[in-house]
Amino acid sequence: MTTLAIYPGSFDPLTYGHLDVISRAVRIYSRVIVALAENSNKTSLFSFEERVLMLREATDGINGVEVDAFKGLVTDFAQKKGTNVLIRGLRMTSDFEYEFQMALTNRRMAESVETVFLMPSEKYSFLSSTLIKEIARLGGDLSSFVPPCVEKRLLERLQK
Ligand code: ADP
Repeated sequence: MTTLAIYPGSFDPLTYGHLDVISRAVRIYSRVIVALAENSNKTSLFSFEERVLMLREATDGINGVEVDAFKGLVTDFAQKKGTNVLIRGLRMTSDFEYEFQMALTNRRMAESVETVFLMPSEKYSFLSSTLIKEIARLGGDLSSFVPPCVEKRLLERLQK
C-alpha cells in the first residue's frame, strides 16, 4: 500500500482548482508530488521554470506536498518514485472522456498504476487555466481564481 501519490499536469498556470485538488489529496495520502509534465505538446504561456516556481510558492505552506517535474511517461515517473497512484481532477462530465481515455492508456502502460479522481469544490468546478488566461487578457479580476503569486505574474505577462 502506498502513502504517496503523484498529481501530474501542465499547470499553465496553477489555479485555486488545482490547489483544491492538492489539499484534498494530502488528506488521503501523506505525501503528494505535484509533477509538472515537461514534454507536454501544449504551447504554454509560462515557461517550465516559471510554472515550477509558481507551484513551489503556492504550495509552500501545505504539509506533505512536494513539487517535481518529469519527462516521458507519467507511469514511469510514478514507478521511479515508488508509487502506483496518480491523482487527476474531475470538474464536470466534459472532463470525463479525456480523463477516462488517459487513465486507461496509463493502465496499459503500467498495469499496476491506478488513477484516482478527485472532485474540487463546486466553486472551482468551472475554472480552467485557459479561462484564467482569457480573463487576464481582458483585464478582469483574478483574485478569486488564482493565488497572489500567479495573479502577479499573469498581470505582468498579459497586461503590457
Ligand atoms: P493537463 O494538461 O495534464 O490536463 P492541467 O494542468 O490542465 O494539466 O490539469 C491537471 C489536472 O487538474 C487535470 O486532471 C485537470 O482535469 C485538473 N484540473 C484543472 N483545473 C481544475 C479545477 N478547476 N478543479 C479541479 N481539477 C482541475
